[in-house]
Amino acid sequence: MANEYDVIVIGGGPAGLTAGLYTARSMLKVKLFEKEGVGGQAAITDYIENFPGFPDGISGFELSDKIRKQAEKFGVEIGYAEVTSVDFSGSVKKITTTDGEYEAKAVIITTGVRPTKLDVPGAAELTGRGISYCATCDGPFFKNKRVLVLGGGNSAVEEAVYLTRFASQVTIVHRRDELRTDKILQERARKNDKVDFMFDSVLTKVSGDGLVSGAVVKNVKTGEEVTVPVNGIFVFIGNLPNTEVFNGKIELDEKGYIVTNNNLMTSASGVFAAGDVRNNPLKQVVTATGEGALAAVSAEKYIES
Ligand code: NAP
Repeated sequence: MANEYDVIVIGGGPAGLTAGLYTARSMLKVKLFEKEGVGGQAAITDYIENFPGFPDGISGFELSDKIRKQAEKFGVEIGYAEVTSVDFSGSVKKITTTDGEYEAKAVIITTGVRPTKLDVPGAAELTGRGISYCATCDGPFFKNKRVLVLGGGNSAVEEAVYLTRFASQVTIVHRRDELRTDKILQERARKNDKVDFMFDSVLTKVSGDGLVSGAVVKNVKTGEEVTVPVNGIFVFIGNLPNTEVFNGKIELDEKGYIVTNNNLMTSASGVFAAGDVRNNPLKQVVTATGEGALAAVSAEKYIES
């Protein structure tokens, strides 16, 4: 039947595309579902400079697009549809999507993560009106404006430095007095004249009449609140795993990330997981692609056995 595959990959970021590439090269019939655009979080990263083989770095979009081309070249069929339910109980795995029903002998889940949303007064109304979760998408709208960047991880600091191409001033607001960012990125931010920091601070309110014009920032140690006049707020306060559809079907950890064994098999036989959606200790494009390859080889061995 047309909708029967050897392997179905759910999610089209670097992990999923690589899992597709490897399974297709093993001459398996592979379908990959992606509900938005391929590339996942990597595709909206301005520059990736720690992926081996690109000494001058490469744009996240370009890298994702190259992996997509490579996967399609070896026969991966990419379907732009959302997976709405799964049935992993039998030896034939059943996947329901917004584009119909599919079956496979093995499934590889690579659905990644999504950004944690800002939850303060004004945030819902002003998202897309000055509040953004994507610096590469929205940075150019803030030419010569002041922006805040929320968070103290790699995303916040890396994207803050990127935003200095456009903004006149970029203030990183972080809830502690220490960043969790890689040292090289911290140094780059600290050396940039346009970047400054508000440590021990959280955003408590966003104001603006149709567009963001101000933000209330509270010092968590002193309790003091200041209103900062800003036009843009970029939010990088962590991520949530995209695992809702798998809830109750496979084991998840307390934060919702997928638990696997060493071969990346989940608690459901024949169902594998790779990349940021897995409860792994390092979330990078290089580990996502490596895990995609391992999940693919494990799925192939599972099918053979
Ligand atoms: P992350 O590492 O989880 O950092 C999230 C930051 O937001 C943390 O500093 C956290 O503060 C803060 N935060 C969390 N909840 C908050 C809240 N409610 N209010 C205010 N602040 C809050 O997330 P990420 O930066 O998006 O990175 C995700 C993963 O991708 C990481 O593993 C990262 O290394 C990786 N990544 C790597 C690169 C790279 O290698 N160049 C680039 C981007 C991302 P605390 O520190 O106090 O917890």
